[in-house]
Amino acid sequence: MTAPLTIALSKGRIFQETLPLLAAAGIVPTDDPETSRKLILDTTQPDVKLVIIRATDVPIYVQYGAADLGVAGKDVLMEHGGEGLYEPLDLKIARCRLMVAGRPDQQTRSNRPRIATKFVNTTRRYYADQGRQVEVIKLYGSMELAPLVGLADYIVDVVDTGKTLQANGLAPLEHIADISSRLIVNKAAMKMKHARVKAVMARMAVAIGP
Ligand code: AMP
Repeated sequence: MTAPLTIALSKGRIFQETLPLLAAAGIVPTDDPETSRKLILDTTQPDVKLVIIRATDVPIYVQYGAADLGVAGKDVLMEHGGEGLYEPLDLKIARCRLMVAGRPDQQTRSNRPRIATKFVNTTRRYYADQGRQVEVIKLYGSMELAPLVGLADYIVDVVDTGKTLQANGLAPLEHIADISSRLIVNKAAMKMKHARVKAVMARMAVAIGP
């Protein structure tokens, strides 16, 4: 009996857009995470399991080897730092941009503006690399509210169509990074389960295309 291959995924957009790529690798979940309460899903391959967890937890499960593989947004990976992981494949799904946003007419009130974000590590690095002094405030959601109520001068968030910013009177101001989801692999699993991991990667790569 071979050791199971465990793949960590988050619900929603990443799960939906990863499904066809997993199917190309012959992996089809036998439960739907949107309706099932199960956190470990069986697949059509008896030795392949999916674990369904929060997006920000995916790199942590893979780093510690609780999952062999995972799918995570580049935004989440930049914030995590990538320790213990390989990032061999850009899945080219869930694309968006990590941006600084604020009121279009924003006059910075201090020489050390406040930036609200859930991406605190990435934000600190972005400003530090440019030698710009900022105060970073960690939030867990609804970042767009922060400049409206005077909590922060700017936000750093992922932007797709820009409609959420626009609906709140905010505009994208600075581009930090292009984001898409990546296949990540635990470093030990890449060695110990090399043939199986390589096979999954190769079949997904064909499905992604050039
Ligand atoms: P938007 O289309 O710019 O209005 O984006 C809608 C909301 O979805 C925003 O608040 C973003 O934070 C979020 N969002 C958009 N694209 C992604 C993505 N690829 N990954 C994670 N969050 C996203």
